[in-house]
Amino acid sequence: MSDVRTDAIEQAWDGVVATARRTAADGLVVGTSGNVSARIGGIVLVTPSGVPYDRLGPGDAVGVDLEGRQVLGDMVPTSELPLHLAVYRGSDAGAVVHTHAVHATAVSTLVDEVPLVHYAAALLGGPVRTAGYARYGTQELADGMLAALRDRTGCLLRNHGTVTYGDTLDQAYDRTAQLEWMCRLWLTASSVPGLRPSLLTPAQLDDVRDALKGYGQPG
Ligand SMILES: [Zn+2]
Repeated sequence: MSDVRTDAIEQAWDGVVATARRTAADGLVVGTSGNVSARIGGIVLVTPSGVPYDRLGPGDAVGVDLEGRQVLGDMVPTSELPLHLAVYRGSDAGAVVHTHAVHATAVSTLVDEVPLVHYAAALLGGPVRTAGYARYGTQELADGMLAALRDRTGCLLRNHGTVTYGDTLDQAYDRTAQLEWMCRLWLTASSVPGLRPSLLTPAQLDDVRDALKGYGQPG
């Protein structure tokens, strides 16, 4: 491997570790649950299974190819590898974040689609769907997730958590944070006895999506 390529991989690995630590620091996961990956060329760098993120260092990079064959590192890749690889095979994603964020996971047990309480849904491509339950680490879970991700950059996994992707680790992370916030918002608004939150119409959300294309970040 050339030095340039090695540098690029080291830099991307630092980003993966920093993002994984951020999910823990921000309360989106507990312990070693959840996982983060980034694609660099034909290699997917992914957090290893069961290792606390504060113990991961620069020399601990774990990498697989798109078929899941390990090409970097000695530690075992996350058990959710099929989920990450399915996103990369089916999109041009540069990074994937998977968490067990508490409000989003709570909402995954309640609805097939996150109610449109806020236009932040446009940041995820539209109303966020819930993929059907399947055991962690299975191809069945990855397949259900792909269906829920159609035309979206994030989804819920029933009784499990969240998946988002983006061009960069920061973008994938931000989408997870927005999704968790939106689920918390809906739970908060819908918990007032006798009242129901008003929802945006699909047309109103389309309008926001069009505005985002022209003007960047929403206000
Ligand atoms: Zn999980």
